[in-house]
Amino acid sequence: MAAKVEPFWIRKTLDQLDQEEWESLCDGCGLCCLQKLEDEDDNSVYYTRIACKLLDLKTCQCTDYPNRRDFVPDCIQLTPGKADEFKWLPPTCGYRLVSEGKDLPLWHPLVCGDRDAVHHERISQSGRMLAEGSVAEEDWEDHLIFRAG
Ligand code: SF4
Ligand code: SF4
Repeated sequence: MAAKVEPFWIRKTLDQLDQEEWESLCDGCGLCCLQKLEDEDDNSVYYTRIACKLLDLKTCQCTDYPNRRDFVPDCIQLTPGKADEFKWLPPTCGYRLVSEGKDLPLWHPLVCGDRDAVHHERISQSGRMLAEGSVAEEDWEDHLIFRAG
């Protein structure tokens, strides 16, 4: 009987993934593109439901990814070399899960084959986000949804 082959995200470390495998770990939730607040006392990161100005509030995709840095200079590019800093990512994020040696959840597109499951399971904030310009920055703390890290 052939031995069971573990999926690549279990078998490999993040820095062993090829480009296609790396990209496929993203579940498309768009949560990392929400505005965040940092607690200066303990560096915890709190997510708000306020979206980056380039985030589509329904599809949770960046509307101008190739040129995003022209509009959002501090947009963070995730790379395997930064894996030890992934605590700021949402606990559901595929990159964070794999960096912590955990398996992907059942709704992840690599597991269920459905890229919309992340929305149907209400992991993403599709349809529940607020546009960046609609809330004054001093009021962002009224819209916290979870703490990362
Ligand atoms: S939080 Fe992680 S899985 Fe979700 S969009 Fe960002 S990088 Fe992709
Ligand atoms: S610029 Fe695009 S990728 Fe960067 S945080 Fe905003 S929506 Fe996300």
